[in-house]
Amino acid sequence: MVYRNPYAGADSFGSGWSKSNFHVHAFPDASGGPYGASAVVEKYKEAGYDVVAVLTQGEFIHTEKIAAASGICTIDGMEYIEEDGILCVGVDSVLQGSPQEIIDQVARQGGFSVVAHPHWESEPGLPMAMPRSHLDSLSGYVGIEIMNPAIFRGFAGSGLATDVWDEFLSQGKLVWGFGNDDFHVWPNLDRAWNMVHCEPTFTGVKAAVTEGRFYASTGLRLEGFELDGLELNLAVNGGKSTLGPVRFRFVGENGAVLQESSGDSAGYTLDGSELYVRVEAQAEHGAMLWTQPVYDEERFTPMWS
Ligand SMILES: [Zn+2]
Repeated sequence: MVYRNPYAGADSFGSGWSKSNFHVHAFPDASGGPYGASAVVEKYKEAGYDVVAVLTQGEFIHTEKIAAASGICTIDGMEYIEEDGILCVGVDSVLQGSPQEIIDQVARQGGFSVVAHPHWESEPGLPMAMPRSHLDSLSGYVGIEIMNPAIFRGFAGSGLATDVWDEFLSQGKLVWGFGNDDFHVWPNLDRAWNMVHCEPTFTGVKAAVTEGRFYASTGLRLEGFELDGLELNLAVNGGKSTLGPVRFRFVGENGAVLQESSGDSAGYTLDGSELYVRVEAQAEHGAMLWTQPVYDEERFTPMWS
């Protein structure tokens, strides 16, 4: 067996990473009031973002001029909510059809799809959440939201979906884990994001995201991630606000916790039987990061191929 390290192509952990959010809703400037796309993108820029996918709600928003004015990379897109939801990142119009048709259309347009908030539960007056049986039958998307903090702010269900991720990975379905704001109102801003090892361009983002060269975060930074044979080592940085040591959890098939430790760095020696190993890190103040898995290539099929 050969374990693949999705970060193998990341030559540096100090620079070259684009802070990215792929689930940001806004309105056209003319009708959006405080939540016009230009104003929202400006706030994301202030929060240190390099890449923001602006997902239309209704009338499609073309953000080319907004990107030029702000100086950061914006990506046009929409969220499919007939069965809520699928993030359609990098499309140029509102798409209609069944969930699988949507994902296929996104691919034909050169974009990528991410399944949103798998644990959000349908609520009266809101679109129907995608039934789990439908989600299980889909293919062609690159990943799922494992952290969507907006769900915790007054919606039913859970914004954390690492259990669904482990379920899919344990079936040999290669999907990546995303963290996204699901921004609708200012309190949603900058709660969960992705650090993507790429130039801040759509082409760069799409290539890196498809290869898994990113991690989801609510405040921690990856300072190193190496797989040397069966030796996995990583380090994280919590910034100035971290008081105590960071807790690391190495997670494998069916969500089993393989090892736990604390410090600024951690290591795990694979014994060769693991299907995959992914790492969660959590600082004392609650900030987390989730790495993508290292995985036995022979036993996985990418969902998007
Ligand atoms: Zn949304």
